[in-house]
Amino acid sequence: MADYLRATSTEQAGQLVAADADARFLAGGQSLLPSMRLGLSAPTQLVDLQDLRLDRIWVENEATVHIGAMCRHEQVAASRDVQGLLPGLAMLAAQIGDRQVRRMGTIGGSIANADPAACYPAGLLGLGATVHTKRRAIAADDFFVGIYTTALDPGELIERVSFPIARLSSWQKFKQPASRFSLVGVFVNRDSQGVRVGVTGAAPCAFRAHALEAALAADWSPAAARAVKIDASMLMSDLHGSAEYRAALIPELCARAVAAIQ
Ligand SMILES: Cc1cc2nc3c(=O)[nH]c(=O)nc-3n(C[C@H](O)[C@H](O)[C@H](O)COP(=O)(O)OP(=O)(O)OC[C@H]3O[C@@H](n4cnc5c(N)ncnc54)[C@H](O)[C@@H]3O)c2cc1C
Repeated sequence: MADYLRATSTEQAGQLVAADADARFLAGGQSLLPSMRLGLSAPTQLVDLQDLRLDRIWVENEATVHIGAMCRHEQVAASRDVQGLLPGLAMLAAQIGDRQVRRMGTIGGSIANADPAACYPAGLLGLGATVHTKRRAIAADDFFVGIYTTALDPGELIERVSFPIARLSSWQKFKQPASRFSLVGVFVNRDSQGVRVGVTGAAPCAFRAHALEAALAADWSPAAARAVKIDASMLMSDLHGSAEYRAALIPELCARAVAAIQ
């Protein structure tokens, strides 16, 4: 049985988890507690983050939206700032799991967990976000490194995620009907720098689809996205869908996201 402690500062939380390889931060518990129930994880200590005031959303200089690590999916979906300035991210958060999961689950917990089918990783990649911990800032492009693996060090606590404003952004998700996770999810963002396309559910970790980005930079249209062939050899197959099926879904979902932006 794990000890339970409500941390009173981010320093204390980080020190407790860094000092014990089997201690874990507890955010919304929507991934950690099911994995404990299934016997896939057996932490010695749960360090609850709910009192650390990491649940604020704010806009800086009309250029950047900051979302605290403990912001619940429901809160992100309902935020007027997120709806107006990052519409794709508001859509993404609104479609996670079910009402209970959205009420409890947090953005920090989701990206730290880095489930291959989680939705936020595609959003962070598509938006060119930055993950902020106590001691450094990590670009989303460098954050997701493998299956359930991120660039975080042991005991490194995510405090917030920052996003450049992206009014022309959209999200399309093909749900795995039993779990409601993404069988494949595609996030598209068009700004003055170009086009970014984040994909989740298709590979061991979320990735950017550079072929789609290049095609859409040359011709911003659903047809241009649909014309891109995705190499299935690097994608996952499981009982819910083959690699070839996932490869076919990626350009189609991307095309639908582009159509939703136009
Ligand atoms: C039925 C069901 C359906 C779901 N459907 C979806 C879906 O459609 N799409 C989707 O994306 N997700 C889905 N989820 C997962 C859900 O979004 C989780 O909330 C999320 O993956 C984990 O967030 P959490 O706050 O619950 O984290 P927890 O479960 O509390 O923690 C997860 C991991 O992250 C670590 N952690 C937590 N916070 C931090 C932090 N601030 N810094 C560093 N490490 C931290 C914890 O130590 C733990 O290892 C679903 C879950 C369930 C149970």
